This record gives sequence, C-alpha cells and structure tokens, in this order.
Amino acid sequence: MPELPEVETVCRTLNQLVAGKKIANVTVSLPRIIRRPDEPVEFAGALAGQTMRSVERRGKFIRIVLDDLILVSHLRMEGRYGLYQSDEPVEKHTHVIFHFTDGTELRYKDVRQFGTMDLFAPGEEWVLPPLNKLGLEPLDETFTLQALREALGKRSTKIKPLLLDQAYVVGLGNIYVDEALFQAGLHPERTADSLKAAEWDRLYNAIRDTLGRAVEAGGSSIKSYVNGQGEMGMFQHSLLAYGRGGEPCRTCGTTIEKFVLSGRGTHICPKCQPKPRGASAKIAGRQERPKGSSPKIH
Ligand SMILES: [Zn+2]
Repeated sequence: MPELPEVETVCRTLNQLVAGKKIANVTVSLPRIIRRPDEPVEFAGALAGQTMRSVERRGKFIRIVLDDLILVSHLRMEGRYGLYQSDEPVEKHTHVIFHFTDGTELRYKDVRQFGTMDLFAPGEEWVLPPLNKLGLEPLDETFTLQALREALGKRSTKIKPLLLDQAYVVGLGNIYVDEALFQAGLHPERTADSLKAAEWDRLYNAIRDTLGRAVEAGGSSIKSYVNGQGEMGMFQHSLLAYGRGGEPCRTCGTTIEKFVLSGRGTHICPKCQPKPRGASAKIAGRQERPKGSSPKIH
C-alpha cells in the first residue's frame, strides 16, 4: 500500500500533469470505485466541463480541486493514475478515465479494485468522511513537537499502534512507523504516557526526518511516472529496520528482530530499542506478513 511519501509524490506529479486541464467527459467502467455520489452517471455528469485546478494531499488521500467540486481519491492497495494520449490503448484494470479537452486522458487503474473516489462541494469534504476524522498532518507546519505530545502524550496505548491510528497522526503506515521508532531508539511497545521529554523530541524529529527523506526519494521518480510507467519512489533501498529481520542493525550490528504487534509485522533492534519492562514480544517468522498488506513494497 502506498504510504504518505508515495501519495505525496503522486500528488505532486499529478499536479504537474493535470493542473489546468478541462474535463470533457468521464468514463466509469467499475461503479464501485465511485462512492459519492451514488450513481456513476451523476459523478461523470458533475465533472464534465470542470477544470482540474490543483492536486493536493491530506493523509493518504489525493484531493483534486476543480472549479466547483473536490474529488477525494484513495489508492488503497494498488490504485494508480497515469496520463495518456486518448489514442493510446487502454490497459487492463483501467476503471475510470477522465477525458480532457486537449486530447489527453487521466486514467485510473486498480488491479485490486479497492480504491475509492468521493465527490464533494468545496468545503464539504472536511466535514464528511473520509477526511473529517483525520489527525495531525506530519509534514505540515502545524505538526509541532507540542502538537504531537498533546495528541498522544496522555495515552496509555503502545506507541506503535497509536502512531498507526489515522485519528492521531495521518499517513504513517507500518513501514514508516518502524523506521521512525528505530531512528528514535524507542521500542514499539512503550506506552505513549511513559515517554520522557527527550524521547518525544527524538520521536518527533524521527517522524519528520523519515517522511521527509522518503518524500525526497519519491520525488526522484517523477520522470518514470510521466512516461506512464507508474513507478513510485524506491525508499525501501534506504530502510534501516523495516523488512530487515535477521540482518545486522546498521548502528550497532545486533540482529534485527521481527515480531507481531497488534497484528502488524514489527522490526526492531533489541539493543537500540530497549524493551519496556513487562512487555511480551513473540518472535515471528520472517516471511509473515500482516493480513491484506501488499507484498509489492516489502
Ligand atoms: Zn542496533
């Protein structure tokens, strides 16, 4: 599943590709992708004649601003957008096509068919699902050390599942939470209310740094995306903990351990991330994968 940095890259790329393009009409060949309005024909009818003004991100959602409408799109497991000339053959699993007046098309392809699109009047998107319950935006200037502590600091929940909860901080998936906790030297089973001031500081900086570096890495793939390859950033080349179970820690050489926490494969260095007292971590096989996760990014 694409995480925040990948979605950020997709949004930046899409913004370069489609901002200013006017929609002539829309083809929907898989109605279930469209959640709002109920009828795909209404969806298509409303979008005809609208110009895509900008493409922005909120959490892992793509927010396309049009003249009088907001399109909120989630890629889920395998969704991807690509810009094509209208005479290029339509690939299999293409479910929605935005035909522009200039002869190009924005095509939405989704092998797994889990992606969603919701159409709103401007402003309405913030007060209705799926955007209304999202937490802090970790790359935004409103994401401060103080905001992070205020949102999480009093919770007695383990820090990893808390960071994964989109109601507190958005866009942190399994990969980046493991990376951020490794970088901060925090065991994922520490409870939020047990963190000391210096640890919050390390965690805050680790989240910003991990996501920031990943966005930069993702940004380098813009060219291939333009070519219609749909390739996204390859941040996994520089991962320090995630997916490295059994390999030596790059800081201290201790073997990285993998265990399951709240149903998610979790990677730690037992030396750099000391376990809290009383926590019971079960070591799991390296091949284990959380249910429903995409093997692609692993
Ligand atoms: Zn280590």
